[in-house]
Amino acid sequence: MKNTFVMAGVMGWPVSHSRSPVIHNHWIKQSGLTGAYGLFPVKPSQLETAIRGIKALGIAGCNITLPHKVNAMQFVDWVDPLAIRMGAINTIVVQADGALHGFNNDGYGFIQSLREAQPNWKANSGPAVVLGAGGAARAVIVALIDSGATEIRLLNRTLSKAEDLARDFGEAVRAFPWVERENALHGAALLVNTTSLGMHGESPLVIALNQLPVSAIVSDVIYIPLETPLLAAARLRGNITVNGLGMLLHQARPAFKAWFDVMPEVTSELRDTIIATL
Ligand code: NAP
Repeated sequence: MKNTFVMAGVMGWPVSHSRSPVIHNHWIKQSGLTGAYGLFPVKPSQLETAIRGIKALGIAGCNITLPHKVNAMQFVDWVDPLAIRMGAINTIVVQADGALHGFNNDGYGFIQSLREAQPNWKANSGPAVVLGAGGAARAVIVALIDSGATEIRLLNRTLSKAEDLARDFGEAVRAFPWVERENALHGAALLVNTTSLGMHGESPLVIALNQLPVSAIVSDVIYIPLETPLLAAARLRGNITVNGLGMLLHQARPAFKAWFDVMPEVTSELRDTIIATL
């Protein structure tokens, strides 16, 4: 252990809504460490100064959240190749020599959340339908491809963004117009919503699930509410459903390990603690 009092935090703007302090402070306590994980409200215009200041503060590193995930990449000394493919970082780890390394664990969190719901889940068990073409979609697509997915049907309100994203990944990803989202479900083994539709305060995602096999997993990266209208409809017709809480909790594990040299667990106690804050 580098320090006796360990420290990390999350940079975002705004950042007060972040659940990361609850997660990491829970693990700090559970691991018998002394320390704290805090919130760093960093304005976009101050991002470079804040990131460069990490070295001087002597903290272990930090998480990066909206709106900084893309811009932060240019201010670290090295970016993990996986994060480069995801086009964003969500974690910075201070190395022994003071260098700042950037990582993205969102894809890892997403895959772990699927495995939690279905331990024998295989990415190549059938086509995956991904709705949305923003930052979360890119992380999900990289993770699915690296897990062995060979057919991803990508649908986004703005078709050109889905086409641009698909182009980066070659044959495995094909973009379709948003109006095709119900037909795209035919024969699919996985449906993932990465749009903000269905989130608290947003409109619900409008999609009839008739064409989706009941054997398919339905996942939503949203975790407020825990059960979006999409997940409720999928559960009622018998699909296995996965909410975004697992992704949030599991992406935090490799960061904690990198900072504090302990791989923490996602326990029901931690899950309940987070749910109590939603
Ligand atoms: P983003 O880059 O802003 O992308 C938003 C996506 O939602 C775009 O594809 C956008 O389509 C689509 N969208 C927004 N409003 C829409 C509407 N009215 N109709 C149809 N599509 C609409 O955001 P992001 O970073 O990818 O985040 C997306 C969601 O993932 C958020 O709810 C976020 O909280 C969640 N998330 C969860 C986790 C987790 O750990 N569970 C991690 C990351 C993100 P256009 O391209 O047409 O605008």
